[in-house]
Amino acid sequence: YGFHGLSYEYLAKQLAYVVPELAERRVVAAHLGNGASLCALHQGKSIASSMGFTALDGIPMGTRSGQIDPGVLLYLMTEKGMTAQEISDLLYKNAGLKGISGLSNDMRVLEAADAPEAALAIEYFVHRVRREIGALAAELGGLDAIVFSGGIGENSSSVRARVLDGLRFLGADYDPEANQKNSLWLSPVGTKTPAFVIRTDEEWMISQHVRALMSVPDR
Ligand code: AMP
Repeated sequence: YGFHGLSYEYLAKQLAYVVPELAERRVVAAHLGNGASLCALHQGKSIASSMGFTALDGIPMGTRSGQIDPGVLLYLMTEKGMTAQEISDLLYKNAGLKGISGLSNDMRVLEAADAPEAALAIEYFVHRVRREIGALAAELGGLDAIVFSGGIGENSSSVRARVLDGLRFLGADYDPEANQKNSLWLSPVGTKTPAFVIRTDEEWMISQHVRALMSVPDR
């Protein structure tokens, strides 16, 4: 499940509860919070994730870079004389939305700001989310549903709209009013690749695992 495994496990369970027929099919779940990643699910099981060896990979996050050209790291070492620790601090703590905007890691602050750098940070975030959904759809051999979650995915109608506007070629669509209200069902009936907002609950998932380990009967 990648580094947001608890969240994706919860989302897969919830989707199976809400739309069982879709949960069995090809789904991309986007956990868009301060940490952010996407996961391709088939029959409720992860088959690919945007994260890799570490939680730095994939899409840009609040302060983490996401995917970056390895040539940039060589450049920072050889041309800028940066140490491994300095590069680590940059990639983990001062990149992503914070690094691009120079303002904040918080999407709410960026959405309320006038600065062009804030707009650029949001544009880059949206662009990478969209691109990753396309890549994961290719891994799945098609796409039947999209799930948004995490602080940004659950609350930013603007980010969701911009991501989905670019995915109409995959059959995605949304009802602007439902999107504005952060509704569970975002798409009009009959949409080929409907989108959903599901509020994740990693703590509940942890409690379920602990109960299982302690052999406490499920409630
Ligand atoms: P999380 O790590 O899941 O708590 O998500 C944190 C991220 O969600 C931060 O970037 C917040 O700015 C963002 N967020 C929370 N509420 C909203 C909102 N109403 N609109 C846009 N972004 C939000």
